[in-house]
Amino acid sequence: MAEYYPKTGVCYQHSERNKIYMIYNFSCNATCSHCLIQSNPRRRGKLDPAVATEILQQGAEYGKSFLDLSGGEIMLFPQEVLEVTRTARDLGYYVVMNTNGFWARTPEVARTTLSELKDAGMRAIFPSVSAYHLKYVPLERVKNLREACEELDVACELNWVFSDEPETDEMIKNEMGLDETYYFDGLSLVGNDEATIERLMKVYKTRVPEDIDDCLSVYLGVNPRGHVVTTCNMTNTNEKFMDSPFYLGNFYERPFSEILRAERESPVLQYIYSNPHPAMHNLLLGDDEIGEYYRDTFVTRRYFSVIEFYLDLFKDKRVMPFLERRLPELNAARAAQLTAVG
Ligand code: SF4
Repeated sequence: MAEYYPKTGVCYQHSERNKIYMIYNFSCNATCSHCLIQSNPRRRGKLDPAVATEILQQGAEYGKSFLDLSGGEIMLFPQEVLEVTRTARDLGYYVVMNTNGFWARTPEVARTTLSELKDAGMRAIFPSVSAYHLKYVPLERVKNLREACEELDVACELNWVFSDEPETDEMIKNEMGLDETYYFDGLSLVGNDEATIERLMKVYKTRVPEDIDDCLSVYLGVNPRGHVVTTCNMTNTNEKFMDSPFYLGNFYERPFSEILRAERESPVLQYIYSNPHPAMHNLLLGDDEIGEYYRDTFVTRRYFSVIEFYLDLFKDKRVMPFLERRLPELNAARAAQLTAVG
């Protein structure tokens, strides 16, 4: 299995089954060409703090304890960020935030704003930095934010995206001193600019299942449309997730507690939470019943991310029924083992 980067840092200190990824709003001050949420300044759609509170309260009852706040650019709504962060902290969540850092206009502003966020309960910031973000947010602001994080002892981990502009990538890496650990995921095939995505398809490698890294990107996400999808690779419409075990429903149409129960009872999700990639690949490969078919059909297929691999498996008319039958047995065996050890 490939390893895109060492699995250290805030995200890897928390279990996937305990996380909520909250796309709070779709709007953004930027219109990055690669943006998988397809955010821009005209994009509408935002959660209400009261709705966010309900999600967090019910989540806490189901063991959720890690909140990843995101957008769009969530800091377009700083008062609501403070409110939701306080609520989450009081419910026992470890709260982190993704931001492009546009608001860190000066070192002083960065410090003052971050200090308010920290007082509200924000524990870590993941600023985005890439050639695409650079068109909208000067590097200086990300530096201001990173320095403020250092001063105030708030964890700071940069979200990196490789672009189709290698010289700009190099310049940013040098400017930001990116020899530290930074994070990126596989390529999602939607964005604000189709031509950019087509070029990125030549920059990013596709990999066979054996070689894909698992960035542990399977965990419960919500967005302003009410979608509940178990991945932080959610898109604006989430069409590709519908009719797959990753799509759990819409919290405007079905009580969130029922959705959380469905997550808890989903054999596929529970298996992935306990057995990250390449466990499912190895299971299928080594099984007497499905192994030959899986080897002939999947082992040479190439994917841009582990999520695309899973979605392809779920669509398969032989693999999915097999998983539905086999995974409950395996999950039950594991639960029995844990009980015996406990
Ligand atoms: S990638 Fe981030 S900063 Fe860029 S448009 Fe999307 S949400 Fe905004």
